[in-house]
Amino acid sequence: MAQEILNVSQLKVGVEDKEILHGVDLSLNKGETHVLMGPNGAGKSTLGYALMGNPRYEILGGKVTFNGEDLLSKNVAERSQAGLFLSFQNPIEVPGITLGNFIRSSMEQRGKKMTYFKFKKLLQEKMEFLQMDPSYAERDLNVGFSGGEKKKAEILQLLMLKPSLAILDETDSGLDVDAVRTVSAGIEEYQKNCKGSLLIITHSTKILESLTVDYTHVMVEGKIIETGDASLVDKINESGFAEYERI
Ligand code: ADP
Ligand code: MG
Repeated sequence: MAQEILNVSQLKVGVEDKEILHGVDLSLNKGETHVLMGPNGAGKSTLGYALMGNPRYEILGGKVTFNGEDLLSKNVAERSQAGLFLSFQNPIEVPGITLGNFIRSSMEQRGKKMTYFKFKKLLQEKMEFLQMDPSYAERDLNVGFSGGEKKKAEILQLLMLKPSLAILDETDSGLDVDAVRTVSAGIEEYQKNCKGSLLIITHSTKILESLTVDYTHVMVEGKIIETGDASLVDKINESGFAEYERI
């Protein structure tokens, strides 16, 4: 039987005294991949940040459960320990901690302990798969990384941490064709071999080509106003969001 991993019910979120999400409903079962589309400014990233517990996003109402537990009462670290992962639209640069050490400590925080030797070997394998130069493991997190390298570093974290639900916020934006292919292969690996659940925020069909999509949601002005199957992605790419914005 399908097991629900995420349930968002009537979620209202505000930023700087302005309500952005006006009652979002979303249900996602274990192992499913959902795509979230919508025009710029609809509130897609706001949903990702609110689910991850970013303190700038104030919960004004509603309820969220993750694996049956109340999510909104947990802090960011507890949410990530519970198996939630957010890949940022614009990953931040963190001087003073290397990519490798960042991933190792994130894994330890989540109770995934292994010998340093085993960790290094696994990290190298995943970096090779993502066509990342191994020297990046020793570089400070995202500092001086190109847009594509930052996105690959996010996918590297995904493959190492194997969270139970990953929210990917425009992981494919600004990537060249080769990088899109690599990032997409990484997401496919997470979907198939880690049996991960995904909420993918995207405008592009390229990233979805090799992935199985179970549901597509359309968010307009802070609400999910339509849910359909994978074909809704193509429909939107043909006709845009104009039809929804007139509602
Ligand atoms: P999307 O990801 O769908 O393009 P966002 O969630 O980024 O949309 O933004 C939704 C609305 O919330 C926009 O009007 C945006 O200006 C506002 N907003 C989001 N984050 C912030 C923030 N940190 N500070 C001020 N306004 C914000
Ligand atoms: Mg966004």
